[in-house]
Amino acid sequence: MPSSAGRFREVIDRIAGEMARLTDRGSPADYIPALAGADPGCFGMAVAEPDGTVYGAGDWRRPFSAQSLTKVFALALVLSLEGESLWRRVGREPSGNPFNSLVQLEYENGIPRNPFINAGALVVTDRLQSLTGNAAERVRELLRVESGNAGIDFVPEIAASEAAHGDRNAALAHFMAAYGNITTPVPELLTAYFRQCSLEASCADLALAGSFLARHGVRADGSALLTRSQAKQVNAVMLTCGTYDAAGEFAYRVGLPGKSGVGGGIIAVVPGVCTLCVWSPGLDRRGNSVAGVSALDRFTTLTGLSVF
Ligand code: GLN
Repeated sequence: MPSSAGRFREVIDRIAGEMARLTDRGSPADYIPALAGADPGCFGMAVAEPDGTVYGAGDWRRPFSAQSLTKVFALALVLSLEGESLWRRVGREPSGNPFNSLVQLEYENGIPRNPFINAGALVVTDRLQSLTGNAAERVRELLRVESGNAGIDFVPEIAASEAAHGDRNAALAHFMAAYGNITTPVPELLTAYFRQCSLEASCADLALAGSFLARHGVRADGSALLTRSQAKQVNAVMLTCGTYDAAGEFAYRVGLPGKSGVGGGIIAVVPGVCTLCVWSPGLDRRGNSVAGVSALDRFTTLTGLSVF
């Protein structure tokens, strides 16, 4: 059988060339200085195939702030540890609202719409903290082991900056605690959440680390992180909720499960085929990387691959 190693190399190079010519690239997140200083001219794209082959173009080996990309890994860990009972605490419907919105929580008794908006991610980190006592370290460990890069780490300045500008996340956490949907003391939960968000990794690292989603739940060493059915569920929630109030547009343009972060990264999955990670710090008004979405749009257009 011919090897499939590197089957998307040419397409990735072509897309990187196209993205270098993109003029409207959005602006980096400006809610903390550490992210605001990023160069919107940066662009990286990596592909990890299920056998562990990884390659990319542009700044694909340069570490960036993973931010909400870590929410996928925290969710996978909680599902692997406690399974279905998580869904009593957090829903799996798109919110149609910005990632840091508070509005739906009061009508829905402190149960966030999904695990990828901040409110839902705080519940997931709360569960992981209750189950393990070291949520952020567990997420770091999963990234390190699956990517094979033991150098992946927190960036204390980013975590401190998140905390200094953390009123909204604190409000979300306290509000849900009032409904009994957060059990970790809020300051401890916020520390874990901000540390998790501060993890820095490259497109290569994150594409490899997210490969279990393309391998139907199987980790790099062949063991199962998730069941096949759970991997399908995480991919489904990524498709419907992973890019916040732009999830419909993302499905329309890209047609893949995807999760974005305000650092400008996006992880996307072609189940059974590959995991992609793109990065470019310029964001659109909904907090998704402009060049990142564009590159994934080109990838599915040029290859004909999508979940549809
Ligand atoms: N650290 C960010 C926050 O909680 C993560 C948000 C994101 O990447 N969308 O506000």
